[in-house]
Amino acid sequence: MGAAAGFHLHFYQPPRENPWLGLPSREVSAWPFHDWNERITAECYRAMVAVELAGGDGAPELYEPLGRSSVDVGPTLQHWLDRYAPDVGDALTDQVTSAPGGAPDLVLAAPLVHAILPLARPEDQSRLVAWGIADYQHRYGVAPRGMWLPETAVDLATLAVLADQGIEFTVLMANQARRVRAPGGAWVPVDEASLDTSRAYRVTLDDGASITVVFGQPDLSRRVAFGGLIADGVHLADVMADAARASDGMVLVVADGETYGHHHHFGDLGMCWALRRLEREHGLATSLGTWLRGETPTWEVELAAVSAWSCAHGVERWRSDCGCVTGEQPGWSLDWRAPLREALDWLRATLGPRIDEALASRVRSPDAALADYGRVIAGTVLPAAFVVEHAVEPPDDAATEWVLELCEAYRNVLYSFTSCAWFFADPGEIETAIVLRYAAVAIDAVRRLLGEDVEAAFVERLAPVRSTNHGIAGEAIWRRAVDLVRTTDERVGAAAAAEFATCGLAARTSRGHYDLAVARDDDVLVVTTTHRPTTRRRTVEFRVRRTGPFDWRVTYGNGREGVFTTADFGEDVVARLAMSALGGEGSVDVDQALSQLAAQLLARPATPEDERALVALAGAARVVSPIGQAAVRRALLATLATRESKGWGEELVGLATVLDGGPVGG
Ligand SMILES: [Zn+2]
Repeated sequence: MGAAAGFHLHFYQPPRENPWLGLPSREVSAWPFHDWNERITAECYRAMVAVELAGGDGAPELYEPLGRSSVDVGPTLQHWLDRYAPDVGDALTDQVTSAPGGAPDLVLAAPLVHAILPLARPEDQSRLVAWGIADYQHRYGVAPRGMWLPETAVDLATLAVLADQGIEFTVLMANQARRVRAPGGAWVPVDEASLDTSRAYRVTLDDGASITVVFGQPDLSRRVAFGGLIADGVHLADVMADAARASDGMVLVVADGETYGHHHHFGDLGMCWALRRLEREHGLATSLGTWLRGETPTWEVELAAVSAWSCAHGVERWRSDCGCVTGEQPGWSLDWRAPLREALDWLRATLGPRIDEALASRVRSPDAALADYGRVIAGTVLPAAFVVEHAVEPPDDAATEWVLELCEAYRNVLYSFTSCAWFFADPGEIETAIVLRYAAVAIDAVRRLLGEDVEAAFVERLAPVRSTNHGIAGEAIWRRAVDLVRTTDERVGAAAAAEFATCGLAARTSRGHYDLAVARDDDVLVVTTTHRPTTRRRTVEFRVRRTGPFDWRVTYGNGREGVFTTADFGEDVVARLAMSALGGEGSVDVDQALSQLAAQLLARPATPEDERALVALAGAARVVSPIGQAAVRRALLATLATRESKGWGEELVGLATVLDGGPVGG
C-alpha cells in the first residue's frame, strides 16, 4: 500500500449528430454556441487542458491536470472533439502520452456507446467493449489497462466481458459493494459508509479469473460534485491528503469532468489548485493507474447483483419507473421508460438476425466481422479494406456496399441504446429523440437493403411512450424526433445542387458523411453523392431555381420525380445559401450576413423565409463574435415585434428566451 490522492474525471457527451448526415444538430438552448458540446468545450474541456495558476513567485504558471489524473473520455465525445475541437483532443493526447506511464496509466477506455451494459445482449456487450478498445488502440497505439463503464453499471457478466478482453481494472462507487473479505478471512457486509475505499479490491469471476475494482471516496466525491468543496482547492487538498495518510491508501474523487468549469464555474481552477498542492506540498502520487502498478489486491469484494452510480435500484432507471430521475415536475410520470426499452429491444431482436443472415452471404463470419467493425469506426482500417479482409470472395463494389450497409445498420442499432434517453424526466426531449433517430437510420437501411419495413411495427410499440411536457405520445414523439432530420441521398444531392448554383466556388465538396461532386451540363447539375461509411454512391441530375431572396426550388427527373424546397436542405446549407445571397456569391462571412439581415428586418416585416434564414445563420457552427450576437439580438427582437407568420416561431422564441437569460438546459 501507499498513500495517494487524486481525481478520476469522467468526460462524456451523448452523440449529438444527425445520424443520416453525420453533422451535429443545432441546440437552441446552447446559444450563442451551436450546440452543448461547443458550449461545454468553451466552459470546461478547453479550460481543463491548460489551466493558468499563480506560481510560487507570483508569475503565472501553466498547469496541465490531465497528465496527473485518471481520465475517461466517452468515445462519442472524443469523436466530436477530434472533428470540432481538435486543439482540445490533441492537447489531451499530448498530455497523457508524454506523462510517465503514458495513456494506459492515465486514461481508461470506455465502451464505444454509452449503453447500460448489464441490459445489453451478450454479443452486444462484447462488441461494445471491443469497439471501445479498438478506438483506444487507434488513438494511443497501446491497449488500455482500465475501462470505465457507462453509469458505472455493472454485474458479473459485464466484468467477465472486460476481463476476457484484457481489461485489468474499473472504477465503481462505494454503494455498489455488498461484502468484503480479507485474505483468509470471512465475508463482512459493507455499505457505502463502512466500505474502506482506500484499497483496491479483487472481484472473482465465475471462471476463476478476476478483475480489480477501485472505489471512489463517496463523501468527498459527492461534496465535490454537488456541494461547494471544489471552491477551495487548498482545503480540498488538505482533506484528501489527511485521509490518504490516515489510511495509507488511495483517496479518489470521482465525478463528471464537466463538474470542473461547467457545473461549477472556476471548478477547473479549484481542482488544479488541489492537484498541485497534493503533488508539491503533500508529496503524494495523484494518478490512479500509476498507484495501481504498485498494488496487488489481496482483499476481495462482492458487488451487488447489478448496480450503477445514479440509480438506487440496480439498473432500473434505464428500463422502469424506479423513481430515480433528473428534472421531474409535479404530475409527470416515468411510465414511458419500460415501453421505450421494450421497443428498442424488439427492434434489436428483429433486425439482428436479418443483418446476420444478410451478412452471411458475403462474409466468412458475421460475428467476427461485426466484432472487428470497431477498427473501421476508429479509423484504423478503411471500410473497403475491412470488407476485403472478411469477404468470402474478392468483393465487387456492390458486395462492399452491401457489407458496409449492414455493419452500419447494426452500429446504428447499438447507438440507439445510448443511456441518456432514459435518464431525464420526459421522453419528448433531445436525449430520447437522438436514440429514435439512430433506430430510424437502421430501419431505413434494412428497408433499402432487404425490402423489409419494420417502421410501423416499431412505432406501434412506442404508443405507451408519453411526453407530459409536450403533450404528445407514440407516433407523434417519433415524428417530432425523426421527420425534420430524416435524409436521403437525393435530398443531400438536391441541397448540394442548390449550394453549387448559389455559392459557386465556395460550395463544399464534402458534407458530414458525404463526399459531393457537381458538374454542370447546361441548366442541369449532375450531382454525385458518396456516403463514405458505406461507399454508397448515387448520381442524380437536378435543376435549381431561385424563387425568392432566401428560397430555392430543386427538381429532379425533369420535375416529374420530385421537388425539394429550401425546407428540405438542412440548416447548414440554408446558412451558406443566405451568406451568398446577402454577401455575394461565395461569401462565408456569417457576421456580415447577420448584420445585413438584421438591418433589413428592422426596416420591414419578416417572411417565413427570412425567419428560416435568420435561424440558420444564428445557429451556424462558428465562433460567435460579439458583433454576431448583437446582430442576432437586433434581428430577433425586430422580427418578434412585427411577425405575423407561424413558420419558425418556436425556434425564434427559443433563441429569444436564451437571449433574455431565460432557462437553459444541459
Ligand atoms: Zn432507481
